[in-house]
Amino acid sequence: RLQLLEEQRGLPAVTRDGLSLHLYANIELPEDVDWVLRSNAEGVGLFRSEFLFMNRADSPGEEEQFQAFSQVIKALGGAPVTIRSVDVGADKGLRDDEFRAAHGVLNPALGLRGLRLCLRRPEWFRPHLRAILRASALGPVRLMLPMVSSLVELQQTRALLAQIQEELRRDGHSFDPRLPVGIMVEVPAVAMAAHSFARDADFFSIGTNDLIQYALAVDRGDDDVNALFDPLHIGVLAMIQHTIAAGQTAGIPVAMCGEMAANPALTPLLIGLGLREFSMFPGAVPEVKAQIRQTSAAEARVLALRVLAGEDLGWSPDQSENI
Ligand code: PEP
Ligand code: MG
Repeated sequence: RLQLLEEQRGLPAVTRDGLSLHLYANIELPEDVDWVLRSNAEGVGLFRSEFLFMNRADSPGEEEQFQAFSQVIKALGGAPVTIRSVDVGADKGLRDDEFRAAHGVLNPALGLRGLRLCLRRPEWFRPHLRAILRASALGPVRLMLPMVSSLVELQQTRALLAQIQEELRRDGHSFDPRLPVGIMVEVPAVAMAAHSFARDADFFSIGTNDLIQYALAVDRGDDDVNALFDPLHIGVLAMIQHTIAAGQTAGIPVAMCGEMAANPALTPLLIGLGLREFSMFPGAVPEVKAQIRQTSAAEARVLALRVLAGEDLGWSPDQSENI
């Protein structure tokens, strides 16, 4: 891996037939940024900000969050950083009492998690958004909303952001007034209605870990049904293709930040489905880049059409085991 990292460092993520792609890194904590720099990713495509809140008894305040975001933005020296607003609930638990209420419910993956929980707790969402907005003054930042299922949630968040921008102006804080606000596509109905969401969202990022879980009704963390968690299911691939096409039609960027984007065995297929932006754990960047450089985009398109048509191309389950 180290050797591969050295070989790939500095080489562009371009297919054999000259198509340029973009590789970003997923991070959980500010410390991970060193790993991003070593991987030579173009920036951060997913900062899972909930990790700032996990494994502690209290919640970080606005200032502490601002410092954490600043650290990442400064370390990246002008490279883009996509900060995902806190995505807790379901598989991502907190010790904080405030959030405990969200757990222990019958069906947490379908319950109050991600953006739903944030909108329910503005006293807590507001300082979070303030910290992100303030950080946007320091470099190219995008805000990404997790677990969106309805357009209303996006509109409510935009309304809240507008209020907070007013407050920040009054308080003399700078921020990017045009902060791009995008959504994660991880609910099947959102993927199918992507053309409608594309009118209000500045970008999409496909969260395949949850999208597959919800599309196939297979708990992402349940070993008993693991074998059914199939990224190559034609229903899943059709949703991915539909989302990418809707984004392209609307002229907004579409990335993928779920584990599927990190699997080099799937890279040609994803290129064939039209994906141009990949975000993955930093360690996967060299391998995916090496795969891109061996791939022909024209051949990848043919591959994707054949897979979508249901042709059996002899994919073995092993090839998708790490997803
Ligand atoms: C996803 O669901 O694919 C994703 C990237 O988000 P997370 O794994 O943090 O839920
Ligand atoms: Mg998710």
